[in-house]
Amino acid sequence: MAGGKKILFKRGGDCRNECAEIWAPLYCSKLECVQTRYFKSIFHWPRNVPNHYVRIEVGLESIETEVLKKMVRWWHKVQLMDGNRLPKICLNILKSLSNDRISMVKFNWYTQLKGKLDSIDAVSLLNTSEMSQFKDEFSSSILKFQNNKFSLDINAVLHSNYNPDFRKISSLTLCEQYLSLRVPIIKHKLISQMRLCQPRSFQITSSGFRNSFQTDISNCPICSIPEREDLQHFLLKCLRLQSYRDKYLNKYISSISDVDVQVQALLDVADINKLNDLFYFITSAFKMRNFVLSL
Ligand SMILES: [Zn+2]
Repeated sequence: MAGGKKILFKRGGDCRNECAEIWAPLYCSKLECVQTRYFKSIFHWPRNVPNHYVRIEVGLESIETEVLKKMVRWWHKVQLMDGNRLPKICLNILKSLSNDRISMVKFNWYTQLKGKLDSIDAVSLLNTSEMSQFKDEFSSSILKFQNNKFSLDINAVLHSNYNPDFRKISSLTLCEQYLSLRVPIIKHKLISQMRLCQPRSFQITSSGFRNSFQTDISNCPICSIPEREDLQHFLLKCLRLQSYRDKYLNKYISSISDVDVQVQALLDVADINKLNDLFYFITSAFKMRNFVLSL
């Protein structure tokens, strides 16, 4: 990934503020919204894109994983302190209170930490004091927690009605290959909007102009044939865009007969030539579309 984009992605992940291990355990879901909204804003994705789509597309680690890392490190650091140090005394009191049924989770930091580790059956990590053993257990536990969160996101995408095509065009791994291609970010923005839109109701922002597709009208406003102007019509069927389609897209779909699979084949982008072809088709099509709409 190019340097500028690395910074961009790092900034998106930098919702983890100072001392998050202390105050953030109960607010991870709210922090998650801040992080995903940042990427929605950068890439012009709709506000209603589910957060698990954003994390899968960009390859984001969940905020909760980051917070858990900080919590465990801080716990371990305090455990290495002398027994008369105030942080150690306080945490040990919280630990003893955590077994008390009337102890409220929101007032007990240790219970919050234990609860997170309980989900991956790794509470024993908190009792490990030997450094090399701690490092090994820490790495494996965090990986386990991360994989658990990632599998929840994948499961949510697989059962989502927001965009049924996405599960077929996504690699369902951490970060899509096209986002690491060395091209201007404007191309990433355009392609990613196509991938993350709702196919039957969407807007695409290109060069600062918002292109709204009129999917509620039974005839396409561009070529006038009796079809809704949805994503499939735009990419494969609109008659006014046929010359651009012949030039840029047909080589990728000519051997495929099913139209749904054709859309998926176009939006599953892994190499720079295909990304450029798709980008030039979309920008040319938008120019033609805006010209026809202005008549
Ligand atoms: Zn049309």
